[in-house]
Amino acid sequence: MTDAEFPILGTEPLAVELANTLYGTGEARIDFLADARRVGEWFALVSGRHGATVPMGPHAGRVRLLRDCVHALLSAAVEGRAPDAALVERVNGFTAAAPTYLRLDWSRGAPASRRAGTVTGAAAVLGSIATCCVELLTGPQAGRVRRCQGPGCSLFFVQHHSRRRWCHPSCGHRDRQARYYRRQHTPGAF
Ligand SMILES: [Zn+2]
Repeated sequence: MTDAEFPILGTEPLAVELANTLYGTGEARIDFLADARRVGEWFALVSGRHGATVPMGPHAGRVRLLRDCVHALLSAAVEGRAPDAALVERVNGFTAAAPTYLRLDWSRGAPASRRAGTVTGAAAVLGSIATCCVELLTGPQAGRVRRCQGPGCSLFFVQHHSRRRWCHPSCGHRDRQARYYRRQHTPGAF
């Protein structure tokens, strides 16, 4: 894996986008964050969404550790089973290393809140993604994490409307093509 494009949907919470850098299953699994350079490139591409000002490449090991945990937790959620307790504790370790608090902001005529923290740097970036994962699994979107049903696709997404079955419309298009092909080539089908 060298310069393949990253599987960034651009529509999902950052924890989901991070989990999606581990693509496929078993022998066909691809790690899009296999080295420090790729980690740096991925964070640069999503930088508008996490506000990181530190290069994340040097923290590649910690990034992959969190990514693997988030991936496993989302997989457990999708499959309706409880994850390994050690994974839960590891994600809690990331959130604890960069605790955040809710700040009230009334500067635009209406009350709004935003998360702020006292920790900066890589720990803050990873902590915010871990917090995103916890909020995703427990907040209003809990139960809406899905795995794409496109042929050979394993990307996670958050289902905002009940008919969404694919990570991206192109996967739906491929799925329909595959179904059409199977109908045309299955003996006895009509
Ligand atoms: Zn897909």
